[in-house]
Amino acid sequence: MKVDWLIVGAGFTGSVLAERLASQLQKKVLIVEQRNHIAGNAYDYYDQYGVLVHKYGPHIFHTNMKLVWKYLSQFTDWYHYHHQVLGVVDGKQIPIPFNLNSLYALFPTPYADKLAKKLVENYGFNVKIPILKIKETAKSNDLKFLANYIYENVFHNYTLKQWNLKPEELAPFVTARVPVYISRDNRYFQDPYQGLPQLGYTHLFQRLLNHRNIKLMLNTSYQEVMADIQYEKMVFTGPIDEFFQHQYGKLPYRSLDFKFFHTKQDYKQTVATINYPNDYDYTRITEFKYLTGQQTIGSSYIEEYPQIHEYGKNTPYYPIPKEEHRILYKKYATEAEKLNERVLFAGRLADYQYYNMDQAVARALNLFEKISAM
Ligand code: FAD
Ligand code: UDP
Repeated sequence: MKVDWLIVGAGFTGSVLAERLASQLQKKVLIVEQRNHIAGNAYDYYDQYGVLVHKYGPHIFHTNMKLVWKYLSQFTDWYHYHHQVLGVVDGKQIPIPFNLNSLYALFPTPYADKLAKKLVENYGFNVKIPILKIKETAKSNDLKFLANYIYENVFHNYTLKQWNLKPEELAPFVTARVPVYISRDNRYFQDPYQGLPQLGYTHLFQRLLNHRNIKLMLNTSYQEVMADIQYEKMVFTGPIDEFFQHQYGKLPYRSLDFKFFHTKQDYKQTVATINYPNDYDYTRITEFKYLTGQQTIGSSYIEEYPQIHEYGKNTPYYPIPKEEHRILYKKYATEAEKLNERVLFAGRLADYQYYNMDQAVARALNLFEKISAM
């Protein structure tokens, strides 16, 4: 078989690049995907109860990049949804990210008033501050107490569960994804564009890939077909260390085990996601119908259990953001450069970057711009 571009992986990165190359440059593209479906980790399907669920954990689309939103909007309408999360702390369900409402949910009002005043005086209102930053900068005893309280009750144990590392052992941006928010806004994200594809992610991907120049092989790893396919160029979106046969050692990833459940109750929770920083082995439970707006009898939900990643045994979901891993990644990136752009690497696993979906799309669109200019 002869194609212009071979693309490995049918997630956001691979599929957006395939769509652009096929529709804008009229290139013949073949995508090989080792799983039995498209959409990568964003894959969704209807379970046996007719509920639209996300196979690889809850995926909520949010972005401040208008370009990305506009691009995807060519392939989907949106269910306009703003994500809300509660965390169980001291037996109470409090808004996450921790905000002024969380403060009042936990402490007697006079003390919450005092802490809120100090927060606003020291940092301002409608400001987001990473917990590690508050811990570092808190001067008064009250703010020191609050910083330690939030660190211990919201971040420390959750992060140990999720990463098997303490917050300060990871790159600071990880816990800064969920900063303390000095406001009354209970939403998880404040991005101007938020929502879920109206008919689901898989449907969005079907539309992305529905082009006569795009061929797709599912259940196929690129290692199986490499020798049989003639291609001008390749985009690889799998793990970069796997591509180079782990010649410098394995890049560490974090994996997850997902457990799905269904209840006959209309709703199990009062919001989409409840985080359990301090209890149980799972980190969070998410109820899908909140995300999708689907009206169903009964409700399906998912528990997420973090796992060590073992090559060949489970799926690498999260690159582990730590300086020493970045150094190892750089060795592979240097090998990648030696391939003189015949093979391009992009995506969460190939760039070894903790991308959200919008960042994966932006990365693919930027790479396409570079390819077009070559
Ligand atoms: P992937 O989606 O991982 O796609 C890569 C594809 O390549 C996979 O399908 C894989 O099977 C295939 N592949 C790998 N190696 C080979 C090979 N050798 N041969 C053939 N095929 C191969 N982002 C958000 O914006 N919002 C969220 O709420 C959100 N929630 C998330 C929750 C979880 C639990 C996880 C794990 C991620 C979440 N993300 C979320 C991140 C999102 O999943 C990623 O940004 C996105 O999937 C990245 O797309 P990608 O194409 O780079 O990678
Ligand atoms: N985090 C935490 N407690 C929470 C929520 C998040 O400690 O209640 C930390 C944890 O380290 C987590 C990180 O913040 O891995 C990022 O959280 P996010 O919800 O963005 O993770 P993702 O959805 O990517 O798994």
